Amino acid sequence: MFALIDGNCFYASCERVYQPNLRNLPVIVLSNNDGCVVTRSAEAKAVGIKMGEPYFKIQDIVRHNNVQVFSSNYELYGDMSRRMMNSIATLVPTTEVYSIDECFADVGGMQRLVDLNELGHQIRNRVLQWVGIPTCVGIAPTKTLAKFCNHLAKRHRYFKGVANWSAWDADMQARALNSEPVTEVWGIGRRIGQSLNEVGIETVGDFTRASTAMLRQKFGVVVERTQRELQGVSCLEMEAVKPKRQQIIRSRSFGQPVCDLTGLRSAISHHVADAGRELREEGGVAHTLQVFIQTNRFKLELPQHYGSECVQLTSGTCDTLKINQMAQKALERIYKAGFEYKKCGVILSGIESANQQQQLDWLNPGDSEQRLRLMSCVDGLNARFGRDVLQLGTERMNTDWRMRRDKLSPRVTTRINELIQV
Ligand SMILES: [Mg+2]
Repeated sequence: MFALIDGNCFYASCERVYQPNLRNLPVIVLSNNDGCVVTRSAEAKAVGIKMGEPYFKIQDIVRHNNVQVFSSNYELYGDMSRRMMNSIATLVPTTEVYSIDECFADVGGMQRLVDLNELGHQIRNRVLQWVGIPTCVGIAPTKTLAKFCNHLAKRHRYFKGVANWSAWDADMQARALNSEPVTEVWGIGRRIGQSLNEVGIETVGDFTRASTAMLRQKFGVVVERTQRELQGVSCLEMEAVKPKRQQIIRSRSFGQPVCDLTGLRSAISHHVADAGRELREEGGVAHTLQVFIQTNRFKLELPQHYGSECVQLTSGTCDTLKINQMAQKALERIYKAGFEYKKCGVILSGIESANQQQQLDWLNPGDSEQRLRLMSCVDGLNARFGRDVLQLGTERMNTDWRMRRDKLSPRVTTRINELIQV
């Protein structure tokens, strides 16, 4: 038996936790560089703001309806997410964090001890009380059904935030399935949804009753498995351990075009530092580094340049200083003056576990004990006092490239100098 717990308009809810005066106002959160709408509160939906709409197109709606606008505050959302997941974990035996605001809980066997509806409400109340985030809970014998129930719990007030499949009779279950279009099913995207419509499958109910052989033949085993899950046959288990990453990518568009090498140096250093931190967090070392820079492909009237270079790191490393040195040299080789750059990034790949590496490659010794201690010291201080307390020198040379985030809220839970004042 699975429960799927999902934060309601999560980013907007995070903003509301520390600004309760926003509770009944329309709230939206924008993507990187304040581009498009990525989260809307129910009130913002009601005034007609669509998902993914560019911010500049909705200025009028925003003004007339007193819509509260925020830049993405990922540091705040990440920390609120961690708190939400920790609170859920206090009530269930195992959890699998599925995205920043969603997690599956394995509640199998618990129905003998507690009423699962009751448990669902307990989870909601605890997350609301401890973290301040409203959630909905879907409970069902398969993950796909739990996702579906969560969707119903969000859509219909009737459920009061908890929809429990196994508490319904067959008639109620059938009505639930028939009430939603097939595209609401987890894993059925718009494209497959369209093809399903063409063979007469419109609702989730139609899909559940369709010929399994036909689904397998026309759409493959993944879609077949989705159908079995909706029929109550569990095919997807809890994934307790995150699979190890094959590569770590850090890249971002600039808030404004960057022309000179210093700006790019600074941005590349920032990405290297961030990727290095994550590499060490996962206990890995990387063997390959790729650096790339690119102009804005959509501005065809401007001269275009895409520069990219792969560097082999002689022995696997997780030393940010070493990686940054290599990255800066690569950047010098791919940089051409006279272009307006829009984006740059780094990719670390050929990742293996640090222990394994030490044993295998004794001819090319890896990072020295001293450097590893330095890195763990840097990570420790940044974790404690905020991510940019210790930075690479090159990172500080120029900050023009930083994202446009005009409407950023304070990072109240992770920065001591941004603490809330009352
Ligand atoms: Mg959500």
